[in-house]
Amino acid sequence: MSLIQHLSHGEVEGIRVGRFTSQINTSVIVYRVGDAAIDAGPPNQWRFVRDFLQSRGVRRVLITHHHEDHSGNGATIRRELKIPVLAPELSIPYLSQGYPMQLYRRVIWGVPAKFRAEALPREVELAPGLSLHLLPASGHAPDMVCFLIPQRGWLFTADLFITPAPQFARKADHYREEMESLRGVLEHDFATVFCAHRGVVENGKEMLRRKLEYLEELYGKVGEMHRAGKSLREIRLALLGREGMMSWLTFFHFSRRNMIKSVL
Ligand SMILES: [Zn+2]
Repeated sequence: MSLIQHLSHGEVEGIRVGRFTSQINTSVIVYRVGDAAIDAGPPNQWRFVRDFLQSRGVRRVLITHHHEDHSGNGATIRRELKIPVLAPELSIPYLSQGYPMQLYRRVIWGVPAKFRAEALPREVELAPGLSLHLLPASGHAPDMVCFLIPQRGWLFTADLFITPAPQFARKADHYREEMESLRGVLEHDFATVFCAHRGVVENGKEMLRRKLEYLEELYGKVGEMHRAGKSLREIRLALLGREGMMSWLTFFHFSRRNMIKSVL
């Protein structure tokens, strides 16, 4: 089973797709608001994404960042549906030149084709009186953006939220930068968060604030222990505990160790 769930909230709807459905980070949501889809979904879920985009008359796709679960069908959308795929300026080189993908990512999401995306403007009109604004949100990926719809108090967070208390990190995650991004988006007015993995989070602003506090506290302790001469392993065991199955399955590309390392 691959098409897992339909979501709807006001004028927003979404489909959750994924080859493996056991964890929230092995499935992803493609949202639609007005005639725009937010993100393109992973390559191995193309048939579900295609049906969704076609049946809803989607006329453009707005990408949040280059990761394959978010941008993976971009090339196929351009070729088969012949509608524009827009991405943040910084995502365009990743999408046109490709990027390294570990084996576990290929297995979970499939392998995307390269394509040339159009640059997203800072503001996109979705419908009369409904506009989407880009907010930079690097950390998880250098090119990531969130989409704010100020008229509704909605924030599409891509992978900025996922969970208020992350225990695992990818090698490429930069949590100091992510904390800056969290502070930046929290300055804006919004209530509901649309997370690409968690779904609709009604008290979204509060949950983003909680995540920021969790990271500040965690990394405060990491700093103290590091200055006291503790090893990475000692800090990891004391603050996050033992590694989990995901760490071993991903050869520690996605691990608790990286969560600590991210700020040292
Ligand atoms: Zn991502």
